[in-house]
Amino acid sequence: MVVEWKAVQAAMFAYEREVNERMCCLKGNEHQKVHTKNGLVCSCFMEKSLVCTPHNGRVYCTTGRLPGLNGNSPLEITEGGVVSYKSYYKKRHGIDLRHEEETLFAARQLFTVRNALQKSRHKDKETSSSAGVELPSELCFIIMSPVSISTFYSFSFVPSIMHRIESWNIALNLKKMHLCHSMPNGNVPAMKVLEAITTKKCVEKFHLESFETLGDSFLKYAATQQLFKTLQDQHEGILSPKREKIISNDSLCRLGCNCNLPGFIRNEPFEPKTWIVPGDRSSSFKLEEEVLLDERKMYIRGKRVIKKKVVADVVEALIGVFLSEGGELAALSFMRWIGISVDFVNTPYTRALTLHPEKYVNIQYFESLLNYSFRDVSLLVEAITHGSYMLPEIPKCYQRLEFLGDAVLDYMITVHLYNKYPGMSPGMLTDLRSASVNNDCYAQSAVKCDLHKHILHGSHDLHRAIVTTVHEFDQLSLKTTFGWESETSFPKVSECSFCNFILLACSLLFVWGYYCK
Ligand SMILES: [Zn+2]
Repeated sequence: MVVEWKAVQAAMFAYEREVNERMCCLKGNEHQKVHTKNGLVCSCFMEKSLVCTPHNGRVYCTTGRLPGLNGNSPLEITEGGVVSYKSYYKKRHGIDLRHEEETLFAARQLFTVRNALQKSRHKDKETSSSAGVELPSELCFIIMSPVSISTFYSFSFVPSIMHRIESWNIALNLKKMHLCHSMPNGNVPAMKVLEAITTKKCVEKFHLESFETLGDSFLKYAATQQLFKTLQDQHEGILSPKREKIISNDSLCRLGCNCNLPGFIRNEPFEPKTWIVPGDRSSSFKLEEEVLLDERKMYIRGKRVIKKKVVADVVEALIGVFLSEGGELAALSFMRWIGISVDFVNTPYTRALTLHPEKYVNIQYFESLLNYSFRDVSLLVEAITHGSYMLPEIPKCYQRLEFLGDAVLDYMITVHLYNKYPGMSPGMLTDLRSASVNNDCYAQSAVKCDLHKHILHGSHDLHRAIVTTVHEFDQLSLKTTFGWESETSFPKVSECSFCNFILLACSLLFVWGYYCK
């Protein structure tokens, strides 16, 4: 960093100074006396200075002398034609230039302070608004001298830089608040927390969407697993609404509010005009003080309204951050802090074994297909049993496992895409996910490995649907490559239960690979 000490001292350019202090001892064309609103000064003081022109109330930075140009020089005016500077000022502003023989100075109007954090800035606009002008020194009041225009340009970034530091502090405080209440799990960088509390509305280079997608799928998966394990006798129709209740925006928002989360959410683009200079006490704003749970203080500048959905999104994004940076345990610890208790490890899962499962299922086929040995084959029987095929020995059908498998698949595919394509835009992630998590793909891959031949069912409708799907698959596979790589979409058979059924079956491919490790 280079400190321009001359510019620092320039702030002391007081207009009460003695006249002789505004003169320098140097000689030459660049050191001639010129008239200003501050009185007579050496022209070198005018060359690089911050001036204001009271006749139009504007502030300019002068960038140098214009030798050869003075009040009598011709000026092209926008209405067309050429007049002298002297008559221009007379006509336009009613000002008589009294020292028209003095050299004019080149100047640029001071920069508008911009939001440098914004995603896309309008470069072309910048150049047009800062076009140069020529100023007679007698109209100028020197505020600071010497000071260069590049110094002012650098300073125009200060509000944006300070804003970023401020936001970063907010993220750091949020991180500390969470860590104070739970065991430290993984070192989550404050920068990532900042990303998770920044909404799209801020129009900054990062926002919460990727983490939100990740957190959303993990939350759904965690809640599903918890319900699946704790309510072992409940049907999927009971589990689904319970899960919805846990992961709904309403309840996430309520939990977020209990943890004072809304105060940390960044939901508006930075506006440099309303920026408060740190330590500036001249403004009329007042900060209110509020003590948080752990005696930390929060300073409130104003009230704002945040939609429930935004708070819920931030909760999900934070889960995503902890998952991505610290793993599942870190994510669970954050969820515990926010008020969602899920225990992956210590929730026992017990079940009554089906008698002679080998009577119903070709265990060898499945085990060689999956390259996995089942500890509990009755789970496999449950997974391939349709509701129309109920025997006393098989009390449950696939639906509970589908409920679990669906969440596992969604989570696994999201994590897979997230890790495989780190720079992918959140929209792309969502699109790819919905393209992958889709019944047609599952049906196709199930038919490909002959899974449909092993389904236990007693339904004519289902039988017809399977036959149709297999037929369509045969026709398709003649023309195209298989499955996910194929651009041709698989014919829609989504109205029938076969697809859901296949969904479960394929889900299990993942469940077994992952959940029963
Ligand atoms: Zn001088």
